[in-house]
Amino acid sequence: MRVLVLGAGFGGLELTTRLSAALGGDAEVTLIDKADGFVFGFAKLDVMFGRATPTAVHHPYAEVVKPGVRFVRAAIRAIDPVGRSVETDAGRFTADIMVVALGADLHPEATPGLVEAGHEFYTEAGAFQTRDVLERFTGGRVIVAVTSTPFKCPPAPSEAALMTDDYLTARGIPHEISLVMPLPAPIPPSPDASAALLAAFAERGIAWHPNRIVRSLDPQRRVAVFADGDEMPFDLFLGVPVHRVPEVVRNSGMAVDGWIPVDSLTLETRYPGVYAIGDVTSVGTPKAGVFAEGQAAIVAERIIARHSDGQATATYGGRGICYVEFGADKVGRVEVTFVQGQRPSGRFDDASELYRADKHEFGADRVRRWFGRERLTPEVAPPV
Ligand SMILES: Cc1cc2nc3c(=O)[nH]c(=O)nc-3n(C[C@H](O)[C@H](O)[C@H](O)COP(=O)(O)OP(=O)(O)OC[C@H]3O[C@@H](n4cnc5c(N)ncnc54)[C@H](O)[C@@H]3O)c2cc1C
Repeated sequence: MRVLVLGAGFGGLELTTRLSAALGGDAEVTLIDKADGFVFGFAKLDVMFGRATPTAVHHPYAEVVKPGVRFVRAAIRAIDPVGRSVETDAGRFTADIMVVALGADLHPEATPGLVEAGHEFYTEAGAFQTRDVLERFTGGRVIVAVTSTPFKCPPAPSEAALMTDDYLTARGIPHEISLVMPLPAPIPPSPDASAALLAAFAERGIAWHPNRIVRSLDPQRRVAVFADGDEMPFDLFLGVPVHRVPEVVRNSGMAVDGWIPVDSLTLETRYPGVYAIGDVTSVGTPKAGVFAEGQAAIVAERIIARHSDGQATATYGGRGICYVEFGADKVGRVEVTFVQGQRPSGRFDDASELYRADKHEFGADRVRRWFGRERLTPEVAPPV
């Protein structure tokens, strides 16, 4: 059986790891990605706030050596979901089963003024550059804001606001932080996590602006402009950019209303033999690595069952665990389950040093399983 996995992010890496463990050389799995390595979303914040260097958080795909899996570094130029084939820089690939795990592309240029007057911290390059921007910042009004929905990792803007406060306070740099989010609460499915975050904002004097979105920045006047026309002045703007499916997905006709619709239990698209997982879908869970990974596990089970002529019975349950940075080196833990047609339910465990260690192990476990090596001790950057 030939399996084509498009994208070696959270979803693609978990899927191919599971297929290799169960099928080894019995299946012919091709994993395609245009990048030369993987960076965890949360590691972008580590680099941005000087906790790790870019090299330490980069995991090269050259280290993906798994029985039955071939990694191809190439940009995918066209996807044919009917023929289950792709055109890439490295030629054409066809499969019996195709899994689209291409994530969400980020478009800072889609928010007028963001590139000229602000900084986005969601791309690798953006987060890494923001580290230098923070190093040079001499103080003033800081806005952390979201510029469109949906966006990856809904807790990340709250984490960024708290970590910015830590960073500037530690350096004695005067600042006032405003956090602008299009949500009614920092983490709507978990009222307890939201209450803890709101308490942390209040304690640090971070101004919380719920249900609001920044649509543009005026570079001359250094103001952020909200959807309703209101304005907020800034000296430093840290933004979450517009998210869209990669262009190759849009051109394939697979997306509906911006994202690929899938069966919420089986992750199958409307094309036979074609699945989609993670941020590229509209499956109804937040766009986060833990959910992409959970979906990958179900698709792996279904492919393995099909390979052994068994009945594919595994279905997706929508559960994910997220570690949330609270600043002061403390991490909280949120467990949430999303089931279609039901209110999401969540459980929150208070921020502590204990969950910092759990979060580290979460990353280390993935690096071990996906890349077959122990994680490097985070290479901490010299203090500024
Ligand atoms: C600041 C920040 C903090 C975060 N923190 C967390 C967290 O704590 N926990 C958590 O669970 N999630 C977190 N996330 C979210 C998480 O990183 C994503 O949701 C997750 O990576 C999605 O997985 P995916 O497999 O769907 O896509 P991705 O991991 O984005 O992988 C998609 C892959 O497709 C490749 N690709 C795209 N287009 C092409 C093409 N045309 N040709 C070839 N390859 C292509 C890309 O190179 C990429 O490797 C965070 C994100 C950010 C930005």
